[in-house]
Amino acid sequence: MAESKILFLGTGTGGASNQQLRASGGIVIQTHGYQFFLDPGPGALLRAKQFGINARLNTAILVSHAHLNHCNDANILISSMTHDGIDPKGVLISNKTFVSGSESINPVLTKFHQKCVERIITPDPGQKIGIENVEIHALKTQHSDSSAIGFKFFTKDFILTYSSDTAYSREIVEQYQQSDILILNMPNFDKKSDSNLNVEDVKKIIRKVQPRLVLLTHFGLKVIHKDPLLIARSIHRETGIQTIAAKDGLLIAPQSYSAELRQKTLNLYPSEKAKELKEESEELRIQPHNPESETASQGNNDLSFL
Ligand SMILES: [Zn+2]
Repeated sequence: MAESKILFLGTGTGGASNQQLRASGGIVIQTHGYQFFLDPGPGALLRAKQFGINARLNTAILVSHAHLNHCNDANILISSMTHDGIDPKGVLISNKTFVSGSESINPVLTKFHQKCVERIITPDPGQKIGIENVEIHALKTQHSDSSAIGFKFFTKDFILTYSSDTAYSREIVEQYQQSDILILNMPNFDKKSDSNLNVEDVKKIIRKVQPRLVLLTHFGLKVIHKDPLLIARSIHRETGIQTIAAKDGLLIAPQSYSAELRQKTLNLYPSEKAKELKEESEELRIQPHNPESETASQGNNDLSFL
């Protein structure tokens, strides 16, 4: 079985991505033969091509919210995944405004592209989606697109949380507990915001969650000017938790950070716990298209830069 990997196609937001000082293509997670494409922002299709990611292999496209730096390329990525709808496939998991809009936000998904995918799921925070032996939980956020969601992936080897854009709150951090890997969007350096994280918020989260690895991304202009590498080093020093500032093209082998011998997906819990959890959960299980005949280009190993 191919090794799991996390690839950062882009790491900028705001002025940093508007000027393309950092790219903005989102994140690709490959695990157990499935490919998850997270938040395909501007240039996602181009960056995917550059970094050897085959969009045809997507199992699911995940869009956390309807801001363009998270979903600008989602439609064209669906075109690429489905040969313009000739071969409808794949699952779209997104927040509600991306599909339906709201009073202040236009829907971004076109009617044509709605028909190109096999299934569209717009989960509420707390809802769980099973794709074979990967389980994805939709997480609550506090953001200017009020229906924005984060994602927590439970795989056999690791638990990975992607915060998406959110402000800090105790309730939000609670959802990140037990993550092996925490991907935090940190657009702000010291600006306090009720919609996004800054460096101090990130430190508070790390201290509370104590993951094995923190990957910082989604940097705004001030963070870029202050140097994400130096910021990550000081966070690492202060919290004692390994913290890496993602760069465009950063490739991580997540299984290197998994807790040994811990069985984590709900269906792998020991029977009593599983029963309890299954009763609580609002679970949705789907059968994805399995692209056996196609193979993804292989990248490098642990902590490589493409
Ligand atoms: Zn946003």
